[in-house]
Amino acid sequence: MAEPTPDRTPDPTPDPNRDRRPPMSGATRLAAVIGDPVRHSLSPTLLGAAFAETGLDWTYVALEVADGAAETALDGMRALGIAGLSVTMPHKAAVAEAVDRCSEDVAALGAVNCVVPDAGALVGHNTDGGGFLDGLAHDAGIDVAGQPVVVLGAGGAARAVVRAVAGAGASDVVVANRTVERAEVAAALAGPVGRAVGLPDGVGSALDPLLVGALAEAALVVNATPVGMGDVSGGSEVGLPVDPALVGARAVAVDLIYHPAETAWMSALRARGIEAHGGLSMLVFQAALAFTLWTGVEAPVAAMHAAARAALDAR
Ligand code: NAP
Repeated sequence: MAEPTPDRTPDPTPDPNRDRRPPMSGATRLAAVIGDPVRHSLSPTLLGAAFAETGLDWTYVALEVADGAAETALDGMRALGIAGLSVTMPHKAAVAEAVDRCSEDVAALGAVNCVVPDAGALVGHNTDGGGFLDGLAHDAGIDVAGQPVVVLGAGGAARAVVRAVAGAGASDVVVANRTVERAEVAAALAGPVGRAVGLPDGVGSALDPLLVGALAEAALVVNATPVGMGDVSGGSEVGLPVDPALVGARAVAVDLIYHPAETAWMSALRARGIEAHGGLSMLVFQAALAFTLWTGVEAPVAAMHAAARAALDAR
């Protein structure tokens, strides 16, 4: 009798509506995100999908907490026994001050995006940098060890990326920012391999030769500014963060913007044959790291990705 033909059908895209959890009960654990505004946060979609896919008896909600009330919210977390907390704007710095202990990333960045209860203490973590590196490995399969990197922007996301790529062994990390003083603060997170440079507003403005050279040589160029975010939403942040023609042919580019899925900068780079990725993987993997910190369980990243993509497509 002939051997049955092996099934080579690839795994189907996870169904974002599948839910393996038991019915909610008195034993169901609660996790949440705090922020203001928080209504448009993708965290409930991402973490909700992770709990649904793994079948863990947890639920996850968004809690609007006003600016200035982060410390009270942490007291609430203690009192209510909330088992995991995500933190978004404007509370990341205040929570870093208010937790009982924090990770080395938080000590360096001064920002928490995830709180983990540990034997009565609240421990602050920042999973953005790890999420960026995991997303980069997932999307591009590259390792930045020994490689030159350029980061455009010097805000919270940029600082997490700078620290992460330097920690992963990047040979040179050039941070370009409109406000050069903030670039200097961010570049310092990379230690001796960090360099700061100004980033003039608008394509066509003369760039510092240091930046021109760094863009031509970089193995990785990251846009961590919101420029390009408004291209489809009609917001004000339209345009290109830096002239795509200046990015060297061997570079991989990552735009941390995840909506639109393809920014004008990514399209222009791809038209030149340059590999360019959006920010969705960083978003998924930073949430995946939080999920594992809370539960000790490996995160179902494919299901999280599918749920986030579906939610963004519906916007
Ligand atoms: P942020 O802290 O407000 O920093 C914004 C940065 O962008 C600053 O360096 C700012 O420069 C620069 N910038 C703003 N508008 C600019 C303009 N018109 N031209 C040139 N530079 C400009 O914001 P963030 O939290 O770091 O977020 C930055 C971007 O990353 C956003 O698009 C956000 O959606 C994205 N992000 C993605 C993820 C993800 O998981 N994929 C996570 C976090 C953030 P100045 O210092 O001169 O003001």
